[in-house]
Amino acid sequence: MTVLERAPSLAPVGAAISLAPNALRALDVLGIGDEIRDLAAWQGGGGGLRTPGGRWLSRSSAEAAAARFGGPLVLLSRATLVDRLAALLPPGAVRTAAAATLADPGDSRRPARVSVGGQELEAGLVVGADGINSRVRRALFPLHPGPVYAGFTTWRVLIPVPGAEFASHETWGRGRIWGTQPLKDGRVYAYAAAMTPAGERAPDDEKAELLRRFGDWHDPVPAVLAAARPEDVLRHDVHHIATPLPSHHVGRVALLGDAAHAMPPTLGQGGNQAIEDAIVLAHHSDDLAAYTAARLPRTTAIARQAVRAARLNMTGNPAAVAVRDIAIAALSKAGPALFLHGFDGIADWRPPYAAGEAIAGKP
Ligand SMILES: Cc1cc2nc3c(=O)[nH]c(=O)nc-3n(C[C@H](O)[C@H](O)[C@H](O)COP(=O)(O)OP(=O)(O)OC[C@H]3O[C@@H](n4cnc5c(N)ncnc54)[C@H](O)[C@@H]3O)c2cc1C
Repeated sequence: MTVLERAPSLAPVGAAISLAPNALRALDVLGIGDEIRDLAAWQGGGGGLRTPGGRWLSRSSAEAAAARFGGPLVLLSRATLVDRLAALLPPGAVRTAAAATLADPGDSRRPARVSVGGQELEAGLVVGADGINSRVRRALFPLHPGPVYAGFTTWRVLIPVPGAEFASHETWGRGRIWGTQPLKDGRVYAYAAAMTPAGERAPDDEKAELLRRFGDWHDPVPAVLAAARPEDVLRHDVHHIATPLPSHHVGRVALLGDAAHAMPPTLGQGGNQAIEDAIVLAHHSDDLAAYTAARLPRTTAIARQAVRAARLNMTGNPAAVAVRDIAIAALSKAGPALFLHGFDGIADWRPPYAAGEAIAGKP
């Protein structure tokens, strides 16, 4: 097995990542599910959804989520997750600073070929896990329109916030969102989103931009902003694949993760679905049509749900915001489980293998 990574190291871009029970069950198959659960913070405990002034629209319960989906939703740093996954690879499998190009997808009679650094590699299976701007996807589906702008940008920070005491929350304003969540290692993960033209950047720095947009929101938002340095703030515009691919494979090449189905982060499922893909692909590595059949309908449905969720929580229309907030407050009175309905059919997914079952013999 060879892993070709274009970047100079495996250090991930991004700050923290939320993993739902579906991805955690996939990690159980790899034998690291419990380790990850142990390193991560449970999400949602004692927190909920708020307005920018601080009013609670609904309260969430980590225990209710765990009871509904057979396990908790958790949050941990991306670096920790990548470290644990990389530790599963055979020694010498990873080549960094290795930008790869698909030379030939192969077929049942000939292997696939990949070019890297002037060298050509042959493989029985090539996994195109090269992200939203996937070159492999473009090579396989040159007529596909590719990713489109989702209409909003995001900011993320992962920092210590000395003295901060808060209940984790997501806060929905008019065309703007802020979330603050604690990690188990004591750091705080905060994320924000706002409707902006694609490519727009702050004239000064992104911390100043966050202060302009969120500086007067409820506690702990000002405390997080006070603790952040401009260089701590990551900003990324959100793009997604609005037109599903006709297939997640061609010849001996399978697409996985954002390369196959990049979606807005509104359900926190992009990475979770990439992990599901990997486990299902290992199961069907001899039959890529079965891989596409197992993954394309599910990931298309979840991506569409993420787009619908973005319309709801990113709306800037004052009348729509008022109706939305009243409806959420009313629905939440019927019980916290009601708000978890959005994860039904997603977080309860189970892998094709039983936990702990070996994937022995699979490439
Ligand atoms: C603000 C925000 C918050 C999010 N939060 C969550 C969350 O909480 N939970 C969740 O599940 N998802 C979340 N997501 C989505 C998640 O980040 C992505 O879905 C996930 O990173 C996709 O993983 P991937 O491996 O497919 O692609 P990537 O993470 O983009 O990795 C692709 C890799 O391929 C490499 N590469 C690219 N081209 C080449 C090449 N030619 N040769 C070699 N290597 C190459 C890149 O360097 C990169 O390392 C969030 C996204 C955003 C924007």
